[in-house]
Amino acid sequence: MRIRKGELVSEVSPFTIRLSFHGDLAFFLKSKAGNKIVRRRLGERTSVKDVIESCGVPHPEIDLILVNGQPVGFSHILESEQETDVYPIQSPPTLFPENRLQVRVITRFIADGHLGKLARNLRLLGFDILYDCDAQDRQLLAALSIDNPEIIVAREGSWSRALLTRDRRLLMHKTVRHGYCPRSQDPAEQIIEVMRRFDLVPLIAPFRRCLRCNALLEKVEKADVIEKLEPLTRIHYEQFRRCPGCRQIYWPGSHFAKLRARIAGIRATLAAACRSEDQT
Ligand SMILES: [Zn+2]
Repeated sequence: MRIRKGELVSEVSPFTIRLSFHGDLAFFLKSKAGNKIVRRRLGERTSVKDVIESCGVPHPEIDLILVNGQPVGFSHILESEQETDVYPIQSPPTLFPENRLQVRVITRFIADGHLGKLARNLRLLGFDILYDCDAQDRQLLAALSIDNPEIIVAREGSWSRALLTRDRRLLMHKTVRHGYCPRSQDPAEQIIEVMRRFDLVPLIAPFRRCLRCNALLEKVEKADVIEKLEPLTRIHYEQFRRCPGCRQIYWPGSHFAKLRARIAGIRATLAAACRSEDQT
């Protein structure tokens, strides 16, 4: 365990913690042998959060911790032999509903530079997501800390911004309060995972956000944009929207049918996933 300079570390006799990781948290464990139980030998008092993250599981993925069957917070100190159960968001909702550690519904995100297709799909469905393919980790963390001041997080958790990244070390950073690591590398599966994790299905509102820069689109009169349109677009379309950020103009042209088909595909996959969950 790390010992910070100047920190008082009280000595205790070495003890063993047995951690059971439930649901899909095994995805993060260093041992891929399918074993969801990890034993840790500790020689000092240590927070349960530090012990769990030393096993490879980032704190934003953890929704409930039980120590000897009782719910505890991330700062709970382990100091003797104890059984620890660790649950993800997708665990039985009847299990200590008052002691959950994560905000269930979050509609604002920031994605790391490897998740461009996921970011575009979330914007297509109407969600606010910051994305810059060149963004460095420190820029992502700085954007999170500006956007998630303590007072707002405490009062209205659902208005916080969550970090989406497959970099679990980044997700473990202390600045990150909310976040998610897509298990799949396939953008078509990632969007389904994120929609389910943050309960976004009832909040889908497509075609309201600029796919390039994330700003909310504004209705605009045809006369105001006609000079920017191609001749055939001038003839065939009457309804237009414009991005107040990058000035991109949108209309329901041929690309619109493709985007609608993509949205229909996402909705169908989500409905199928819910049905299969109901049957299990
Ligand atoms: Zn724009």
